Amino acid sequence: MKPQMLVLAALSALPGWPQALNPAQVTELVLANHILAHEGVLDAYGHVSVRDARNPTHFLLASHLAAGVVTAADILEYDLDSKPIRADAPTGYTERFIHSEIYRARPDVMAVVHCHAPDLIPFSVTGIALRPVYHMAAFLGEGVPVFEIRDAGGVTDMLIRNPDLGHALAQTLGNKPAALMRGHGAVVVADSLHVVVGRAYYMNMNAHLQQQALLMGRPVSYLETEEARKAAPQDGFERFWNYGKSQVDMRK
Ligand SMILES: [Zn+2]
Repeated sequence: MKPQMLVLAALSALPGWPQALNPAQVTELVLANHILAHEGVLDAYGHVSVRDARNPTHFLLASHLAAGVVTAADILEYDLDSKPIRADAPTGYTERFIHSEIYRARPDVMAVVHCHAPDLIPFSVTGIALRPVYHMAAFLGEGVPVFEIRDAGGVTDMLIRNPDLGHALAQTLGNKPAALMRGHGAVVVADSLHVVVGRAYYMNMNAHLQQQALLMGRPVSYLETEEARKAAPQDGFERFWNYGKSQVDMRK
């Protein structure tokens, strides 16, 4: 090996030296962005991340782009301070601290979605709890806390733009699979990218159905705690992931 290659090999072993990202994981994250955009969970805003398979103290997240247009070249690696590993990284999402602080607080979490899906918003501002009305969103039976940013930061611009606000949000999330953010949106977490994509989609769908049921003016029968617990495992939303992939592929 040439001397300069030896130096490069030694440097690349140092912590913080940029390494090539895992191509399979990058491909999956791009696909997660496209599925969530196609299914209306993410629009021009909101984002999805995955914990780095090579290093649990890092995570992968796209640069400052709408999910539907993200490509592999746009995927960046961050540390748990939300600092990009690449020195020449393009601008990142303002709210990347949502991801870093949840990964820091929750070692079990492997993927995070932050969305502003419209059907979720009423449940963040009315005090009416988001609860599972059908089996596909059974995971909501664990309870969906609501993050009040005024408690954490007073009067803000509503964005999670620093580690303190991200930490407060992670504290509200606790050990739950999802939390609403008052007047803003939601965070959804899971132990895999496939599950978090399914959860984000069916959480939004449940919110739509729950609103419809409430509008019908009769008492609503929600899943019982035990029903929700039994229904929760499903198939890891693998069929939803494959369906979502097929829909995205058909548009190419
Ligand atoms: Zn947001």
